[in-house]
Parts: sequence; C-alpha cells; structure tokens
Amino acid sequence: MTGTGPKPRKVDALIVGSGPAAAAAAKRLNDAGYETVVLERRELPRHKPCSGILSPRGHRFLLENFGPLPKEILHTPASCAGVKFHFPSMRSVSMDFDGGPTPHLHRKYADQWAMRQSGAEVHDRTEFAGLEDKGTHVEVTAKKDGGTVLYRARRVIGADGPSLAVVRAVYPDYARQIPWFVVGQKFHPVIDCPLDDKYFHFWFHPELGHYTWSHARDGKQIVGVGFIKGSNFDSRHRKVVEYLERKHGVKLGPPEDREIVTANFGPSLVNRYIFGKGNVLITGQAAGFYNMIAEGMSCALHSGAIAGEAAVESFRTPMDVQRAYRGMIASEVRRCSDQWSPLEIALGRPHEADFRGAMKKVKFGEKLGILGEILSFIRLYAPLKWGRQIAWQSIRRKLLGSYPSSRWL
Ligand SMILES: Cc1cc2nc3c(=O)[nH]c(=O)nc-3n(C[C@H](O)[C@H](O)[C@H](O)COP(=O)(O)OP(=O)(O)OC[C@H]3O[C@@H](n4cnc5c(N)ncnc54)[C@H](O)[C@@H]3O)c2cc1C
Repeated sequence: MTGTGPKPRKVDALIVGSGPAAAAAAKRLNDAGYETVVLERRELPRHKPCSGILSPRGHRFLLENFGPLPKEILHTPASCAGVKFHFPSMRSVSMDFDGGPTPHLHRKYADQWAMRQSGAEVHDRTEFAGLEDKGTHVEVTAKKDGGTVLYRARRVIGADGPSLAVVRAVYPDYARQIPWFVVGQKFHPVIDCPLDDKYFHFWFHPELGHYTWSHARDGKQIVGVGFIKGSNFDSRHRKVVEYLERKHGVKLGPPEDREIVTANFGPSLVNRYIFGKGNVLITGQAAGFYNMIAEGMSCALHSGAIAGEAAVESFRTPMDVQRAYRGMIASEVRRCSDQWSPLEIALGRPHEADFRGAMKKVKFGEKLGILGEILSFIRLYAPLKWGRQIAWQSIRRKLLGSYPSSRWL
C-alpha cells in the first residue's frame, strides 16, 4: 500500500459504519478534538431494517449526547409503551418501559441525525475493503465509485454491524464459526388489527419461530420472523400471518414490501464478544452486543461511546488501546449479558421494563403456566448448545460480579 499510487488520508481515527455505535464513537473522538472520518458503504440517508423501538437507556443516551430528537426522525406511532408478550395458551403479558413510552425511531433519518450531531466527517458510498495494522498506525483500503481510496489511521473502529467486514479483516475465520439467524419482515396494509399499536408484540411460540413479532408503523402492520439460517422465510412468514388471523383476528392485506437480513445473534448470551486486535477495535452489533428482544440500539450506542473513549485514552496516555477498551467495556458487557442471565432476571432488574409489575398482575397458577411456556420456547434453541454456557456464565456473574474476559476475542 505504500510507495507509488494515491496518497492516504491521514486521520486519528477511522470508523467503519454510520449506525448508532459509529455515531457514539465519533461523538467521543470529535468532542476530544481528534480528527475522525466515518466510512459508510451506502449513500446517506440510508435505509436500515429495524423496528426502531428504543429502550429508555437508549433514549437517555440520545438526549444526553445528541440533544432533543426532531420529529422528522420518528415513525408513527411516534412512541412505544413497551413490549407485549403472547403465549401459545393465548395468555399475554404487557411489560411497560420504565419512565413511560420511548420514541419510535425512523432509522433512516435518526442515524443520519445522530451522525451529524457527532460532528465527525462522513465519507458515504465508501466501502471498507481491508486493512493492515502496522503497529504505529493502520493502513485501510476502501472502495468508492469503482476506485480505491486509502486511509492511514492511528486507530480503526469497526462499527459495521452484522456485515462484520472489519472483523473478517482481523479474524478471517470468525464469521464461519458463529451461528447466523435470518430475520425478515413484511409490511402489510391493515384491514383489521386488534393488536394494541402502543406496544411491540412478541410471540413466545415454538412453532412460529425463534423470534416472531408484529407492530404498527406508518399505517402498515409489520409481521416479522427470525430463525436459524436454513429454512424458507416466505413459508415461515405466511404461517405467522395465518396464526395472527386465526388466533388474534388480525386481518391484513397482501404485503407491499419485504426485507430479509442475516444477524449475528448470540455472542451476548454466552459472553463470547469480539473486541478486536492491535489498533483495531470492534464495537456495537459487530462485537456481539444484542439486548433482550433483539434490542440492539442502546448497547450499540454505549459500546460505541466506550470504543471512542478507549481510543481517546490511548492517544492521551501510554495505555495500550486494547487494554483500555477491554477494561472499560466490561460494564457494557455486564449490562447486556445480564439481560440474558436467568439469575439476574430472577433476582435482579436487568431490563428497563416492569417485568415484576407485569407478573404481579398474573395469578400464581397462570405464572407457572407462563414459565412452562417460556421453557418450551427456549427448547427451540437447544441445537445451539447455549444452555450450559448461559447457566455457567450466569453463576459466575452472580459469584464474582463480572463475566470472564477470557472468553472474548
Ligand atoms: C428486523 C430488525 C429489527 C430490529 N429492531 C430493533 C429495535 O426495535 N430496537 C433496537 O434497539 N434494535 C433493533 N434491531 C437491532 C438494531 O438494528 C441493531 O442492533 C443496531 O442497528 C446495531 O447498531 P450498529 O451501529 O452496531 O450497526 P448498524 O446499525 O448495523 O450499522 C452498521 C453500518 O455499517 C455499514 N457498513 C457495513 N459494512 C460496511 C463496509 N464494509 N464499509 C462501510 N460501511 C459498512 C452499514 O451500511 C451500516 O450503516 C433490529 C434489527 C433487525 C434486523
């Protein structure tokens, strides 16, 4: 990469991706006065498949770091009260967010707004293609308009979500070693929908899929289903639509749009995060952060901010950047993995939603029934062999107060 050819652009930090993790990292670096460039492969504002349901903690982060949310970055309904869980027995439990409803983000515009508020320079339509860590700096190759663009950065932050482009450059085998999920949704015109549009609806139903949801957006009803890679999205989706009609009286017109993505869901459940190597940090969903109910924005924001802070720390002190990052990120690991820990769920309060309050309204016999239905749903995940790992990580967390960093890459 050195010698003849185009001159690399020299920066303190290069961030790959322009989602919430990238915006938060960029904000920290820019605020500290370090020259930061953000690469985004798509043209901005870009679409992002996402329900846009923000946790209270994610909402606080946006307000504290980027300021009041303009109404242009919201869908209708403009807020969400919480999550309503449905079970095969037709029991249902509503869990309201602490502190009231949170904004329903329109990711296409919300991500661009957050990035603008960070103050960082953004190079869109510029796709990260590879890197070489030279020890003192990292040489990065990107593609733009069919040509090659070069960067020379003191630190690189991979905030590129499930594409794992930066992870693949650092650990070429990693993506082949983790389970991948298919997540797809279709947008239906509504004929009649008795599901409360103030809630995000989730089905603990083993026959429907690993992750089955529905919610209202901009006059349409979204019906989505997630499952382990290998089966057919259309037939699974049809089954959910039929179920909603039969059991909940939801009558929908033929879908007007659809989108399918793959997701690296799982590392946060078993404390198998990936944080990078040398001068390259990995953050957000790329690092494996995913909260309960696939809420990934708040942990992307917080982990991204920590990656940015670790880079700043490494510029200001002789501290090795990996050491700084791994020390600082432990708090976010705790918050995220706690959401999946059976002991934390039973004895603590890892979710910012009133789980206890919701369960208090249910009679004792009903509670046992719900527990049984949750357990039979969890069995769907048995082929992934996560059970023992989750149990052991949960015990270890309870006894020692943290999750072992020895399991991180
Ligand atoms: C269907 C669906 C529904 C969801 N619903 C919710 C929800 O309601 N609430 C919630 O909190 N979370 C939800 N999530 C999860 C949430 O969208 C993610 O966890 C979150 O966006 C992760 O943020 P991030 O910044 O880590 O990555 P992303 O938001 O994925 O951003 C990564 C960016 O990197 C860019 N990029 C990728 N590769 C390259 C490359 N080679 N070069 C340059 N740029 C690149 C991408 O274009 C993208 O802009 C949902 C996810 C899905 C799929």
